[in-house]
Amino acid sequence: MTPEPRRAETAASPVTARLQGVGFGYAEAPDVLRGIDLTLPRGSFHFLTGPSGAGKSTLLKLLTLAERPTTGRITLFGQDATEAPRALVPAFRRRIGAVFQDFRLLDHLSAFDNAALPLRLAGGRDYAADVQEMLRWVGLGGRMDARPPALSGGEKQRLAIARAVLARPELIVADEPTGSVDKAMAEKLLRLFQTLNRQGTTLLIASHDETLARRSGAAVLRLDQGRLETVR
Ligand code: ADP
Repeated sequence: MTPEPRRAETAASPVTARLQGVGFGYAEAPDVLRGIDLTLPRGSFHFLTGPSGAGKSTLLKLLTLAERPTTGRITLFGQDATEAPRALVPAFRRRIGAVFQDFRLLDHLSAFDNAALPLRLAGGRDYAADVQEMLRWVGLGGRMDARPPALSGGEKQRLAIARAVLARPELIVADEPTGSVDKAMAEKLLRLFQTLNRQGTTLLIASHDETLARRSGAAVLRLDQGRLETVR
């Protein structure tokens, strides 16, 4: 059974995230994204596909406010986030569970403490049992005391997913979350995402695995040469 930690109560907008006419480029790679219009209604589930280098990671970085668009607007949870002052960024990010390709784990903390960190920072409730259950569910029950440098790529990936999911964010964005795990674990993680979505979480999963995307039952978007199109 998929663990079901409790969700914090927050005011909900009918649209979790919206990109309007968003363009972005790096100095070395101008026009990575051009005229992107994307609406993620609350409770929607999208896969973002496209070839390597198409700009999938970049689009997720814009959604988590790690990068700012050069043109267009970004709205998160009903609020304009396009030019949100740095001081307001953490408040947006607390509502987003992000899984990045480099995992962003803290090497000096155990797997348990990494997974528990957002819950510890949020304070208020006893989370130990939830964290243990989720870590067991992603196959890390025997690795809770291990630190990230001692974990394999697949273990780190599952830990990063557990951490993102445990805080029960309104929006989950994940960059190739099944890239380092075997097929059986990819299926299991897909079921976790589907369960979270049924419970109301909005998800955007970037993956070059078009078969997984098709089988997910989610809407499928495709980025190619800076443009976004709806596949299904
Ligand atoms: P994807 O996730 O679809 O593989 P990315 O968003 O990682 O694509 O990359 C899109 C394009 O932007 C690529 O041409 C890549 O080389 C370039 N790029 C990505 N990150 C940076 C960066 N930090 N600085 C410069 N160019 C970048």
